[in-house]
Amino acid sequence: MSTVTTVVNPATEAAIAEIPVQGVDEADATVARSLEAGPAWRAVAPADRARLMRRFAAQVEEHAEELAQLETGNVGKPISESRDEVGMVAEVLYFYAGAVDKHRGATVPVAGGVDMTFHEPLGLVAAIIPWNFPIAITSWKVGPALATGNTIVVKPAEITPLTALRLAELALDAGIPEGVFQVVVGKGSVVGTRLAEHPDVAKVAFTGSTEVGREVMSRASGTIKRVTLELGGKSANIIFDDADLERAATATPAGVFANGGQDCCARSRVLVQRTVFEEYLALLADAVDAWTVGDPTDSSIKMGPMVTAAHRQVVAGFLADGMGEPGGGPVEAAHRGSVPDGPGFWFPPTVVAPARAEWRMAREEIFGPVVAVIPFDDEEDAERLANDTPFGLSGSIWTRDGARALRMARAVQAGNLSVNSNSSVRVQTSFGGMKQSGFGRELGLEALESYSDVKNVFVSTEG
Ligand code: NAP
Ligand code: MG
Repeated sequence: MSTVTTVVNPATEAAIAEIPVQGVDEADATVARSLEAGPAWRAVAPADRARLMRRFAAQVEEHAEELAQLETGNVGKPISESRDEVGMVAEVLYFYAGAVDKHRGATVPVAGGVDMTFHEPLGLVAAIIPWNFPIAITSWKVGPALATGNTIVVKPAEITPLTALRLAELALDAGIPEGVFQVVVGKGSVVGTRLAEHPDVAKVAFTGSTEVGREVMSRASGTIKRVTLELGGKSANIIFDDADLERAATATPAGVFANGGQDCCARSRVLVQRTVFEEYLALLADAVDAWTVGDPTDSSIKMGPMVTAAHRQVVAGFLADGMGEPGGGPVEAAHRGSVPDGPGFWFPPTVVAPARAEWRMAREEIFGPVVAVIPFDDEEDAERLANDTPFGLSGSIWTRDGARALRMARAVQAGNLSVNSNSSVRVQTSFGGMKQSGFGRELGLEALESYSDVKNVFVSTEG
């Protein structure tokens, strides 16, 4: 029985598309087409594969504004961010096009012969994508998968399928053969679970919540699939009293409220040295007031709505039950931004300060524009607080003391740290989590390792 999903614009609450939803049989048929396309794709000469990927990147550039508008209409993120993200998609494809013929093996000194290694494609990769950065995260998996000779089936979040679908059309227009990059739209509980279990899928590249990641990993274990997991976070933004306080405060909203806080790298715990706590809060209030919320198609706007009404409800719950156990109860906002009236799933940027590290809202991933500001005494205290979480995705350190910056950068258990900056993601550098934020690295040359197996071949030279 075929059904459709209604795609909604979160800023207007209007239905913007009806997309057919696929089930297990359709997912299986997609997997079969992918397998069929595999041998020919793998046999494409490296320079030709690189050329096809560059053409794909050029298609993205040509359709950049259309893709950005689709993303903003579907996710509600500011158009300026969608344009940046689509720009990144093209950069990712160019980067991995350039990597196709540079992913070299080794010759290894051994006795009795010659030993060499090859990076072999895995086969068919299933990519499971969340709703917060649909097109960008799709490209992070498609780029290295295609470059290393795999075929890929992408399952976007059911609520945000539009840009992945368009991207697959552009790949075909660029000359990438049928079946090499396909999209399956359907529920995670139906087609997501099927892809994670399917015996013909060699690898699952998952980005999403830690809870679902755990399930994907366990389903993938049946056939020992390769798995990479990019999961949740509760990252710390650590501000020392020797930092440029104004710069750190001005940068804080972008570090936690960008994409409405619906960002795995959101620095949702700001740790501030007690000696400058009040001064920082005053500066932060001004910065939050400048963090404008409204119509995401307006290029001057900083923040759009939450992705759905249900998600807004979840975010609100972190204030209503902010303390959690023990004791329980709501938390008060120390400062709030403003939101538009009328339709749209709006939620204001919200500062809770001083927050206590043991509160639920300071421990769990909120995935909305709510920040917990927590005082600390010294470097040791900052390190303890920063690492007192099961997550380890990203974080920032603000200080003018270079040695302290390096000590803290080595001490904080997270995959991506920045000093005097809140930037986590670049095409050229690896991205991924420690602890329960997942494993495997995306982007950079490192991602190529997660999409290939090393084969070792020994050739005897004995007569
Ligand atoms: P989610 O609920 O885990 O969903 C992620 C994807 O998994 C969606 O495509 C979803 O499909 C699918 N899915 C759901 N249940 C599944 C199952 N049982 N088996 C297989 N697939 C299943 O996450 P989300 O709510 O979309 O996104 C928010 C989370 O993603 C946050 O925790 C955030 O931190 C994390 N995230 C991490 C990164 C990173 O790089 N570390 C980046 C972005 C987001 P449906 O939605 O269609 O059901
Ligand atoms: Mg979900």
